[in-house]
Amino acid sequence: MHTDLVAALDIGGTKIAGALVDDRGHILVRAQRATPAQEDGETVMRAVEEVLGELTVSPLWESASALGIGSAGPVDASAGTVSPVNVPGWRDYPLVRRVRAATGGLPVELIGDGVAITAAEHWQGAARGHDNALCMVVSTGVGGGLVLGGRLHPGPTGNAGHIGHISVDMDGDPCACGSRGCVERIASGPNIARRAYENGWRPGPDGDTSAAAVAAAARAGDPIAVASFERAAQALAAGIAATATLVEIDIAVIGGGVGKAGEVLLTPLRKALTDYATLSFVQRLAVVPAQMGTDAGLVGAAAAALAKGADKAPV
Ligand SMILES: [Zn+2]
Repeated sequence: MHTDLVAALDIGGTKIAGALVDDRGHILVRAQRATPAQEDGETVMRAVEEVLGELTVSPLWESASALGIGSAGPVDASAGTVSPVNVPGWRDYPLVRRVRAATGGLPVELIGDGVAITAAEHWQGAARGHDNALCMVVSTGVGGGLVLGGRLHPGPTGNAGHIGHISVDMDGDPCACGSRGCVERIASGPNIARRAYENGWRPGPDGDTSAAAVAAAARAGDPIAVASFERAAQALAAGIAATATLVEIDIAVIGGGVGKAGEVLLTPLRKALTDYATLSFVQRLAVVPAQMGTDAGLVGAAAAALAKGADKAPV
């Protein structure tokens, strides 16, 4: 008998995943649909409702006390709306109201996907036991979230810790967000690949020009590929150092597809940190790979729902 069971949704530009999760973070029931990302908003919502429908027919559903949503951003947790960059049919979309309607009024907690992954790493993964942590997803974009004082810090709208759009190169290239020289503009997978190609790196016979291919070349010693990862590492280090200096984190967790490059990224990142994280209280900052796998978004959304339940519990 599970007394503390929650439902979780992980909504991204590629897939919509749902689960029933127990209070130890175990996924008991799961459902998934491809995100019809280029369709109109109602079509996307129907895919969400199909996922929820599979969960609600489970005999475990009646034990669910809350539902957590981790969504591609931006989100506005205070308004209960989402505007995922990769889902143009949803702009200020009232996702919380619609999910609540589809689930019979269950309490719903909405957070951004970077915050969700942070909740998962803090609960079950690499940031476990750390009261002050920055967790990052370095992938097609660069996202993140913060744990401060032992608690997830989503901020008023659910977007706090958005390290990808901190500017680390004030006169740098324009970023899709409207700013310049953002961490994401330098360190995301597509930007690592683009920079290597522009500087003369060429793919092998398979024609793969992805950041993963650049990582393989860097591992084999290709100097242009190595340099592209070093530049990404430098941008990440500057952003992490700024965060540590502001709020005193003691660990930075790096996940996402680019994070899987491993030491090709982490070794120059740790070296660059010594250039930027210089004050005594940030010098011991650890940088480690993420431990949570593809279920991080679901587990993190569940963590947020469980925390919400705890906040509201009678004392
Ligand atoms: Zn930006």
